[in-house]
Amino acid sequence: MRRTLIAGNWKMNGSFSANQTLLTGIIAGLPVGDAVETLVCAPAPYLAQCADVLEKSSVAWGAQDVSDHAKGAFTGEVSAAMLADCRCKYVIVGHSERRAYHAESNELVAQKAVLALSENIMPVVCVGETLEQRESGATNEVVAAQLQAVIDVLTDEQLARIVVAYEPVWAIGTGKTATPQMAQDVHAFLRSQLAIKSVAAANVVRILYGGSMKPENAKELLAMEDIDGGLIGGAALSSVDFLAIISAC
Ligand code: PEP
Repeated sequence: MRRTLIAGNWKMNGSFSANQTLLTGIIAGLPVGDAVETLVCAPAPYLAQCADVLEKSSVAWGAQDVSDHAKGAFTGEVSAAMLADCRCKYVIVGHSERRAYHAESNELVAQKAVLALSENIMPVVCVGETLEQRESGATNEVVAAQLQAVIDVLTDEQLARIVVAYEPVWAIGTGKTATPQMAQDVHAFLRSQLAIKSVAAANVVRILYGGSMKPENAKELLAMEDIDGGLIGGAALSSVDFLAIISAC
């Protein structure tokens, strides 16, 4: 049984006061029970605030990126050990915005996943195709290559500790969503790729859907067999919307 994970990706949004309102709103409205794991991925300067506010709640916090180096002369970078110091449970790696704006390769993303795991932080490995790639029929080839780079550098035991997020680039922040069946097809394919390396890992790794998930479409998406949760951008900035997605599980 895979526990549903609903993760918010705040991207480069927030302030101390706005975060306080958002986080306390989430805590206050969380449904009773532990069927759903809730996570917020905040900008690095706010991780200590998340740790402070969320410490006594069941909401986990994480970062949106991590350095591919362990330590040293890498100005501006944040290491996995620093995220561990902030008690992050998860870190997003390979978000399409980082792949597009910072030219992150599949191999670099894989190295980030390795470093996160070395600090006992679970990497949320993002994969997804552009509209052009989907229209040319290359979706499976693209996401397979993105995931394979990570599979190649992990042991079976490490592989079982990652989360995968399928985020079609054309659906992120655009209001366009993959249909539940379109998403399910890619999720099932990704799970089959994991199973080639380790069936045990494939059975436990959660594969999240991301791309304009909202209260209105969450229920249908989350009902699909291989969709184990959501990575949510825009709708994670409102406690009302974020909680409505959690309730849709
Ligand atoms: C994201 O950035 O990971 C994302 C899914 O964004 P949105 O929900 O806004 O499409």
